[in-house]
Amino acid sequence: MAPQGIGNSVQQEATNGVGGAHEDIRVLDGGFATQLSCHVQQPIDGDVLWSARFLATDPEAVIDTHLDFLRARAEVIITNTYQADVDLFATHLNMTKEEGYNLIKKSVELAKLAVERYLEEFSDARKPLIAGSVGPYGASLHDGSEYTGSYVNTVSTDTMKTWHLPRIRALVEGGCDLLAIETIPSGVEAEMLVNLLREEFPGTKAWISLSVGQDGKTTACGENFQSVARRCYDMNPGQIVAVGCNCTAPSLIESLITGINDDRKHNPRPLIVYPNSGENYDVDLGWINREKCEPVATFVHKWLDLGVKWIGGCCRTYAIDVTRIRKEVELWKSKH
Ligand SMILES: [Zn+2]
Repeated sequence: MAPQGIGNSVQQEATNGVGGAHEDIRVLDGGFATQLSCHVQQPIDGDVLWSARFLATDPEAVIDTHLDFLRARAEVIITNTYQADVDLFATHLNMTKEEGYNLIKKSVELAKLAVERYLEEFSDARKPLIAGSVGPYGASLHDGSEYTGSYVNTVSTDTMKTWHLPRIRALVEGGCDLLAIETIPSGVEAEMLVNLLREEFPGTKAWISLSVGQDGKTTACGENFQSVARRCYDMNPGQIVAVGCNCTAPSLIESLITGINDDRKHNPRPLIVYPNSGENYDVDLGWINREKCEPVATFVHKWLDLGVKWIGGCCRTYAIDVTRIRKEVELWKSKH
């Protein structure tokens, strides 16, 4: 059972309507590994633990990365635990499972330290939220399967549930404000997680963000994106703060979310989007085609018009992109 009170700050603000109009719109951070690359020399992409390794090897760089996003005026920062896993930590960082569990808790502590330092610099700022990153089961397979969902037909939901549980517990015990359940490629895994929240962590809020296909209509697994997103929210609106997608090209977002709330126009589901830069990943060349991408900030007004409440960036978006997104959000707010 989750400690009572976790997630209360999110709930209280939602109920009290702190700060007036549009205060329910929040700017998220950008790609953690992307921004972390400005602080460390070693390669990050390709590492079996991805950026999560640095929780153990360079915690100051983790704090500095969070601080970059906060100074860029992100209102929500996401812990460096997308690829964190107690067993992977045990194997690749040569630690016990208990130490691995504590390292996941420490990710929240590092985010809290960054928030503390930020509030010392900007004492008038609204206190940023810390979202505990819960990447999909597929991320632990280290074969890109969170972008195809290829494991969903071969791995049972019980196996996925058992795998997810310790990280979520550690993040909640660590004191995150809510969970960022992200890059989930299938309805099966997403719905299992929504149920898991209700059963094991009834005091914890979360958003559900799906990994999607290239057609602007489906999840990575090929299901109807809007049906899955609607179901995830409607199953547990008391705990789910938003549904949407992340780590896809910005150009696909509009067709993914347009019309998603046609069935409940007077009480729309809050939406979340945090796309990548739109670049493509090539196994030999790394990230390519950056010059062909329109910056995420270009799309902000359109998405807010469509009902997006949580907005940020994923892979290959830097703190500077967050600054630009925040600027467009404030501009949109001033006009509405
Ligand atoms: Zn991403």
